[in-house]
Amino acid sequence: VLGVGDDCALLAPSADEHWALSTDTLTEGVHFLPTVDPAALGHKALAVNLSDLAACGASPRCYLLALALPRIDEGWLGAFATGLNALAELHDCVLVGGDTTRSPVGATITITVLGTVPKGQALLRSGARPGDQLWLSGTVGDAALGLALQQGRAQAAPEQARTCIERLERPTPRVALGRALRTVATSAIDVSDGVLGDLGHIVAQSQVGAEVEWARLPRSPALQQQPEGVQQRWTLHGGDDYELLFTAAPERREEVESAARRGGVQVSRIGTITSTGRLVVLDADRRSLDTGTSAYEHFR
Ligand SMILES: [Mg+2]
Repeated sequence: VLGVGDDCALLAPSADEHWALSTDTLTEGVHFLPTVDPAALGHKALAVNLSDLAACGASPRCYLLALALPRIDEGWLGAFATGLNALAELHDCVLVGGDTTRSPVGATITITVLGTVPKGQALLRSGARPGDQLWLSGTVGDAALGLALQQGRAQAAPEQARTCIERLERPTPRVALGRALRTVATSAIDVSDGVLGDLGHIVAQSQVGAEVEWARLPRSPALQQQPEGVQQRWTLHGGDDYELLFTAAPERREEVESAARRGGVQVSRIGTITSTGRLVVLDADRRSLDTGTSAYEHFR
């Protein structure tokens, strides 16, 4: 009803929809370095929020932006706004308010998004059932590899390195896939902290177990060139990929594949939901892999 310019934005809820709300903060030194391209940072600040809407199957509507910056630099702000606006326009997500303040330390960027989903159709972490198939969109581990490349901890061919750094700095929120999965998937989460960490949330909240087949985990050509040990760590624990991890009954397989086509992204079946209460990764001989516990910790 009313956007930017007054003390509040005004929204008119409709009777047959639920609102989906989410907020995420990016902090300098933790989630990004001061040297990052500001246009990429604008993109990412909104993308991580849209990814949460995607994980619920919600359609983006509008967002609020709170910026705390050490100094006002018009060139930086212009580039930041360009990256932010381009992604917002792509998803019809309108800026309805915000705030800018000075930060005595590093920059922080907080975005709050609002989306809508038809009543009863939101995808939750708690809906997985034993026997469901476990699916993952795209490939995982590329953002962790991109970070390692930036920090000189890994090497890759120039074209592959560009792709991985792009995945780290400009993730693609799987909004269309999430929407297409509304009446198909039983549960969903976006992969922000690593496949195993995020699958752990589905397992805990659905009170189920899960078996992941290592050989089925989708890995990019760049990641497949890396040594086996880091490949495994980044695939299972690498964060910041913003793919969707979801479950669906086995008989919905064709509908999952059709949703993936509408979502414009490949999906892979990576395992099965069990009733064991345990989360295991199996090798080709169905032996349990020691997957370690190190979760993704950004720049720490
Ligand atoms: Mg999330």
